[in-house]
Amino acid sequence: MAGLRALWFDGRTSAGRPVDLQLQPGDRGPSLALRALTGDTLALRHEQVEWPERWSAARKPRKLIVDLGPHGSLQVDDPAAWEDALDAAGHRPSLAQRMHTRWSTFAIVLVAAALLVFAFYRWGTPWAATQLTRQVPMSWETALSDGFLRDLDASLLKPSKVPAERQAALRARFDALARTLPAELRRYPGYAPRLVLHFRRGMGANAFALPGGTIVMTDGIVELADKHQLGDDALVGVLAHEIGHVMHRHTTRLIVEQGVLNVGLGLALGDVSWLLSTGSSLLTGLSYRRSHETEADCFALALMTRTGGRTGPMADLLLQMEGAGKQQRTDGNSWMELASSHPATAQRAQALKSGTAPTCR
Ligand SMILES: [Zn+2]
Repeated sequence: MAGLRALWFDGRTSAGRPVDLQLQPGDRGPSLALRALTGDTLALRHEQVEWPERWSAARKPRKLIVDLGPHGSLQVDDPAAWEDALDAAGHRPSLAQRMHTRWSTFAIVLVAAALLVFAFYRWGTPWAATQLTRQVPMSWETALSDGFLRDLDASLLKPSKVPAERQAALRARFDALARTLPAELRRYPGYAPRLVLHFRRGMGANAFALPGGTIVMTDGIVELADKHQLGDDALVGVLAHEIGHVMHRHTTRLIVEQGVLNVGLGLALGDVSWLLSTGSSLLTGLSYRRSHETEADCFALALMTRTGGRTGPMADLLLQMEGAGKQQRTDGNSWMELASSHPATAQRAQALKSGTAPTCR
């Protein structure tokens, strides 16, 4: 409890009357009582007073006006004494006020906001994407893939020169993989894409999966496996990895996540320019996701083990591709991109070779 002097303008007379001011602690915050030297008194509850904002030390006002609503206003000539009395009466400034006056509070709020955005990005977005991915219809995925493959055929890809019987042999093993998919490897139980293998020439030693079941293997990767005498198990392992991407719906998830993230950021920042971006630019601009590669590797391990294939040759091919990939790069969620850019290629190869990746569930 502290007393201080002020001038009270009660709105009825133009001159201010000197008063003694008391700020007293209360449940909701300080209350205010004043007593004029003439004997008039006024007691106001916390919510009846328009408590002025706090100021920073560098911008201390010379005097302070306190709005008392229908009771007029107070002019305090000693703001520091007012502040001391307010503190003594247990006044807690609002967060917005503290941010105005205290850099430490501002920094804490900033960090908290950053953490919130991070948590939204790290956990909220993937969770929402999983829920939404379940709702994406197959027709949407196949339409996207058909369009994308058409674009590639018109630009980067040519018809394959791998002999027809070699293609048929690889396709037979691919179809066997597709038929064997056990229930526990299906992340989306109702999701049953038609898995189709295409051979193409171009884009280096490469294999990639498009949403909805389209998988492309290039002549380059077949030639690389042949050159190092790795046999068909190496190529079939790569195909199993790509089937993993399809069954986990990784590309669809990435597109959905991008959308969720854009909507989230749009809501947070009030920006809707993302509406202008198209599906195809998302597809080509997708950033590579390490967790997706691990999931696809684990999927390949499980599937190859089940179908009696060896995963060692696939690991050797991965290591060979890392060398080959350094000369040629492509965009997208492709096997070669990973082999060429991922620092943990040796680790991946090791896990595939041993047949037991510790990261697989
Ligand atoms: Zn992959």
